Amino acid sequence: MPELPEVETVRSGLIPAMEGVVITRTDVNRAGLRWPFPDRMAERLTGVRVTTLRRRSKYILADLDSGETLLVHLGMSGRMTVSGDPLGVFAHTHPMPEKHDHVVFHMENGARVTFNDPRRFGAMDLLPTAEAEAHKLLASIGPEPLGNSFHEAYLVAALKGRAMPIKSALLDQKIVAGLGNIYVCEALFRAGINPTRKAASLSKRRIESLVPIIREVLGDAIAAGGSSLKDFRQASGELGYFQHSFDVYGREGEPCRSEGCGKLVRRIVQSGRSSFYCPACQR
Ligand SMILES: [Zn+2]
Repeated sequence: MPELPEVETVRSGLIPAMEGVVITRTDVNRAGLRWPFPDRMAERLTGVRVTTLRRRSKYILADLDSGETLLVHLGMSGRMTVSGDPLGVFAHTHPMPEKHDHVVFHMENGARVTFNDPRRFGAMDLLPTAEAEAHKLLASIGPEPLGNSFHEAYLVAALKGRAMPIKSALLDQKIVAGLGNIYVCEALFRAGINPTRKAASLSKRRIESLVPIIREVLGDAIAAGGSSLKDFRQASGELGYFQHSFDVYGREGEPCRSEGCGKLVRRIVQSGRSSFYCPACQR
């Protein structure tokens, strides 16, 4: 499932194909994904220019010169593929249509952007740009972890009195936007915090330490995605999924990477999701 860095990589990859470019035609091949598409979606996405491509949490927001914003969520298995060679960056010829190509954007610069989603947990909606932040999917989301309103004093206040494990607190989208299982595990490892610790039991200093660490973990992943974009341009044109190297995530039974530790990474299940951690380094 794509997390914030993957979505940010998709956004970066779409910019040369879509930002500032008119959508000459949109093919909408089914009535909806997770939810029905908005009325007349194909018409409303035809002959309009994409002015800005933004991201909020795990949502891509394409502002249009019609005064509307297209919201895109990749869900569990959604993929965006760019084909055509508008700027000499995408070396791909248009592929044959595939079974799960649900929405296809034909851009004025010759690019084609295809949204393919076999499991159909993805979503698209159109909303007035001025009210985008009030959309039901966005309204209650907390601050962006890479933005200015996510800072030490904020996190200390947000976790005050919380009896839930720190792992669950950081996964709570109302506390911080866009963090998923993988990057929470990685951040807690770098911070030396055991995922089962109750949020309220952590000292102010340890909570504060999480802020730069979360930014660093996400920043490293976005940088890795950026370098993978170059490969995607040469390879399939598919955006957003790249090779990661994680310290703890997915490494159950393998040795901890902290110097001189050597303990084995452990996996436990919290709220139905796997937590990976080092029992010696994370307290
Ligand atoms: Zn360790």
